[in-house]
Amino acid sequence: MRNVNIGIDLGGTLIKTALVEEDGNICELKTLEAKSGRSMDCVLRDIEAVVHKFCADKTYKVRGIGIAFPGIVDVENNRVLSKYVKYPGASQTNFEDWAQRNWRLPIAIENDARAALLGEWQYGSGRGSDNLLMITLGTGVGSAVLIEGKLLRGKNFLAGNLGGHMSIDYHGIQCNCGNIGCVESLASTWALKDLLEKREDWTKSALNREKSVDYESVFRCAKAGDKVAVEIRDNSIKAWGIGVVNLIHAYDPDKIIIGGGIMKSKDEILPGIEKIIEKHSWIPVGSLPVVVADKKETAGILGTNYILNNERKNGV
Ligand SMILES: [Zn+2]
Repeated sequence: MRNVNIGIDLGGTLIKTALVEEDGNICELKTLEAKSGRSMDCVLRDIEAVVHKFCADKTYKVRGIGIAFPGIVDVENNRVLSKYVKYPGASQTNFEDWAQRNWRLPIAIENDARAALLGEWQYGSGRGSDNLLMITLGTGVGSAVLIEGKLLRGKNFLAGNLGGHMSIDYHGIQCNCGNIGCVESLASTWALKDLLEKREDWTKSALNREKSVDYESVFRCAKAGDKVAVEIRDNSIKAWGIGVVNLIHAYDPDKIIIGGGIMKSKDEILPGIEKIIEKHSWIPVGSLPVVVADKKETAGILGTNYILNNERKNGV
């Protein structure tokens, strides 16, 4: 029998569930659709079916369950703290009880950016560095920080997680978090529609003829010379770059890992961010590598595996 953990990554559009061996080898991976707006209880019922199947396979001995969650998480009590979350009802859900009741297994839940950072640190592009800053560019902007080989969490479990909600424009618009001029409200997929529609020249843009506007279409139309797309692209890179500089000054990492769906356009984003770091940060030029996340699909799952094997060895 092979000792494994089950890792669950609750993403914006997909839920990934996997069986992972101690060394990070993923034996099986099953992907479910997140189907927006469904309650946490409904989603857990879908996941239960997959976990039951995994646990019934006699090739494996399942030791624990890890969850990467898109929100603020109290890791001491395995509870979700965010009220504004993708999965309604998550803050009332007792995950420990769920795992005990169904399988008598310990559970570990962690913020998804932190889990992805751990996954990249142990198995991906963060290997060899113990001071890491990770940023994820996608529906929102996530961040996490590792200092001297230890995940930064803080008293309220917020530390390092709010890179997307740092104010970079105090005259800026109000973000959905209540703060003003957040990186995320200036440059993220959820903010794109509003950013475009408040422009007077928006209807003249090629983006107006796109079925749905996302960063794939912004980068594509910008490449073709569309003026609005070029401005949105350049402003977004600037917002991410300034956000990264602020995080560098706060946490002094030795490497920066950038992940998330928007990094499909990495060839334009990376050099843009590097230029801003060179121009505006206190770090000596060229001394801070900025790399792309390399365990894109599985970093969160691998991170929860690391937590189960190392931080919570004795169970919950
Ligand atoms: Zn915000």
